[in-house]
Amino acid sequence: MNTTNLLEFDLEGLAAFCEKLGEKRFRATQLYRWIHQRGASDFSQMTDLAKALREKLATTAHVAALPVISQQESKDGTIKWLFDVGQGDAVEAVFIPEDDRGTLCVSSQAGCAVGCRFCSTGHQGFSRNLTTGEIVAQLWFAEHFLRKHLQRDERVISNVVMMGMGEPLQNYAALVPALRTMLDDNAYGLSRRRVTVSTSGVVPMIDRLGHDCPVALAVSLHAPNDALRNDLVPLNRKYPIAELLDACQRYLAHAPRDFITFEYCMLDGVNDQPEHALQLIELVRTQGVSCKFNLIPFNPFPASGLLRSPQPRVLAFARLMSEAGIVTTVRKTRGDDIDAACGQLAGDVQDRTRAAERMAARRSPAGQPVVLHRSRPRPAATPGAMKR
Ligand code: SAH
Ligand code: SF4
Repeated sequence: MNTTNLLEFDLEGLAAFCEKLGEKRFRATQLYRWIHQRGASDFSQMTDLAKALREKLATTAHVAALPVISQQESKDGTIKWLFDVGQGDAVEAVFIPEDDRGTLCVSSQAGCAVGCRFCSTGHQGFSRNLTTGEIVAQLWFAEHFLRKHLQRDERVISNVVMMGMGEPLQNYAALVPALRTMLDDNAYGLSRRRVTVSTSGVVPMIDRLGHDCPVALAVSLHAPNDALRNDLVPLNRKYPIAELLDACQRYLAHAPRDFITFEYCMLDGVNDQPEHALQLIELVRTQGVSCKFNLIPFNPFPASGLLRSPQPRVLAFARLMSEAGIVTTVRKTRGDDIDAACGQLAGDVQDRTRAAERMAARRSPAGQPVVLHRSRPRPAATPGAMKR
């Protein structure tokens, strides 16, 4: 018999599940705590639940992590997991330890339909949305694994960023209950400021997120004008920069922080010239959205045909922005030695044939077939690991 994975539920959902079993809703809180706070998956361990309930749960439900295909640990302490999500698809999560925090970078989809030119996940094409349980499983597994691994009793993961594979706002229905579990005091109890959704700019969903579950928002801007952004982030054709910035402005009314983070991936000779910085400054001034910029050194992969901007150019760009009064940081790449850097996610290692088919089926924004890149020398890697 198919049983339900309880990682699929936020507290409300779990309460409804318990009610269906004929149990009082408050039992759900106990169960939720066992699962998320204590990492329990064996109902017989949950001794403060009545025996009858434990027996009912054993026949109707389970708590299961995703199978781990590989785990790699970097010299700098960054850990990357590749999880099997079935049918030849795999997704990655990356843990980035820092002195004052531990950040988990989480995936929301297997592949991604947005198809940004500089992103390895985008080049793979879209396979499928993750379920709520598959999103939460990355956190559940990482948190409880790390407590044992680092021999810590208290919480290890203090921040979650939805910056792994996929466009979280194109998987909205699964995302929101997952975010609720991250925030719930009976589960991970993360503050809204410590949970970040990163989006390439799905405007209507930015508005919905502001109403349903306002967490910190990062927007992948990458270009100061529509012509260039259309080319780098194809979704811009649907939601151009002016509409995106308006949505950011509206989001600020709900946001837990008083700024939006704009991510800007520095691509050699493409978007990294002084004129681009000046256009950005003008854009931010005209639009008036309160923001910070995070410049990301591009993590190259062969199929992109793009190169990383030289460091002096990145610093000069940052200086121009800062001198104009815009808070600008340069992201420090972490986990280089295990390919755990931003934008290199390639969770299709299990079945390259299928990934190749997906890519062939995909069309570039200009309607041209995407050129197949058959041999990717890297193993799997993630868009995730970086200092925020
Ligand atoms: N889909 C969402 C979240 C996942 S990507 C988004 O696009 O925002 C997380 C971040 O990694 C984004 O800012 C994205 O632009 C950036 N990124 C993607 N590919 C990259 C690469 N090759 N090098 C550096 N950053 C990259
Ligand atoms: Fe998708 Fe984000 Fe990669 Fe663009 S950068 S293809 S939106 S995962």
